[in-house]
Amino acid sequence: MADLNELYQEMILEHNTKPRNFRAIADASRKTEGYNPLCGDRITLFLKMENGRVADISFQGSGCAISKASASMMTTVIKGKTKPEAEALADVFRRMVSSGAQAAPEAVGKLAVFAGVSEFPARVKCATLAWHTLLAGLEEKTDHPVTTEGENGS
Ligand code: ZN
Repeated sequence: MADLNELYQEMILEHNTKPRNFRAIADASRKTEGYNPLCGDRITLFLKMENGRVADISFQGSGCAISKASASMMTTVIKGKTKPEAEALADVFRRMVSSGAQAAPEAVGKLAVFAGVSEFPARVKCATLAWHTLLAGLEEKTDHPVTTEGENGS
């Protein structure tokens, strides 16, 4: 377990220091705000959808190391996914961190490092904030004027 915790901490610290996709997307299809009042974590998620897929995804915001690392890693795995694929992954992730349930390695990949968060119930919302925000962004029904393409897909 010590090794696992070390890996877990190392990856989270690394993503916290150097978050991936930490930027705005000027022509985003959707921009969604997320807030975790328990910890004060804030995230703004940018989604660019094209032909039913996440063509680009990024985030900005401030929060604890877990929330930031989770958002960073989430953007790296969600890019290129379809809405159903992204939703399925969000579901697996949320179950893993809230219950500690073992997820199939092929289903979660490197996200498995967040399984350790289930030992700290107060931090579960930090880890899931980005995913809740993603789901809200994917659900948004309103047609956004900045979307130039993406309505011609499946
Ligand atoms: Zn937090």
